[in-house]
Amino acid sequence: MIDVIDLKKSFGKLEVLKGITTTIKEGEKVAIIGPSGSGKSTFLRCLNCLEDPTSGSIIFEGVDIADMRVDINIHRRHMGMVFQQFNLFNNKTVIENIMLAPVYLAIHDLRMKKLQNFFIRIKNAFSKHKTPLYEIDTTPQKIKEEARENALRLLRRIGLEEKADVYPSTLSGGQKQRIAIIRAMAMNPKVILFDEPTSALDPEMVGEVLDLIKQLADEGMTMVIVTHEMGFAREVATRVIFMDEGRIVEENTPQELFNNPQHPRTREFLSKVL
Ligand code: ADP
Ligand code: MG
Repeated sequence: MIDVIDLKKSFGKLEVLKGITTTIKEGEKVAIIGPSGSGKSTFLRCLNCLEDPTSGSIIFEGVDIADMRVDINIHRRHMGMVFQQFNLFNNKTVIENIMLAPVYLAIHDLRMKKLQNFFIRIKNAFSKHKTPLYEIDTTPQKIKEEARENALRLLRRIGLEEKADVYPSTLSGGQKQRIAIIRAMAMNPKVILFDEPTSALDPEMVGEVLDLIKQLADEGMTMVIVTHEMGFAREVATRVIFMDEGRIVEENTPQELFNNPQHPRTREFLSKVL
């Protein structure tokens, strides 16, 4: 699904990613572990086009999204992202948070189709060969209704339907993060990237968030998750990547990586965190 080839990223003189090469297959659950400052977040941000790589390629479904010429919005909508700090819009209600991106994109698509039809009609008026018009079977009203239905269905799933119309500031950290996760799901992404989704939570809320991520994993969602929760990585990940100083030092099944680390730096890191 995603092929990363010799990905490099520098901020000024600081080279943060020094050539990352890996492949993420459909259905995989990849955990990324490693010391603070090793480039884990930068790597995820490059995957989701939140950072422009300095060099290298990220091939997502056959298209190099590191190439500045491609329309990243087309690809980004297939990748959900969940951040450590939830990143909910505090001036919008819970349901507005969930509906925002799907509605925005669907209305954008609708406008583009209408615009294209406008040009096709002009072209058809002057040409013997008639190009068929795009079929338009929706309206902004319908798009919003469908997005609301879908958002309510997702809220019901996590038992927070009654929070639909409240603002995020009234929620606990665990509730906020679960809403951030279903907000990502509302886009129907092909892969979800999680950047330390439980690191900002009080300990008693970690479980509810990990449980939801685990459910999505069991349903076959492809995911990449930067985490300090080694127990979770061991239980849920199909592969663990250990990063240090901008490189992948070692990657393996959780079984192998945790029980039989090959590289001295992996061993040193694991001895500190396990
Ligand atoms: P990790 O997530 O593994 O802790 P990060 O990817 O956040 O690591 O950061 C790796 C290094 O890149 C750090 O030294 C950090 O200070 C630096 N860095 C990250 N983002 C930026 C930025 N926007 N500008 C400058 N330096 C950055
Ligand atoms: Mg980070």
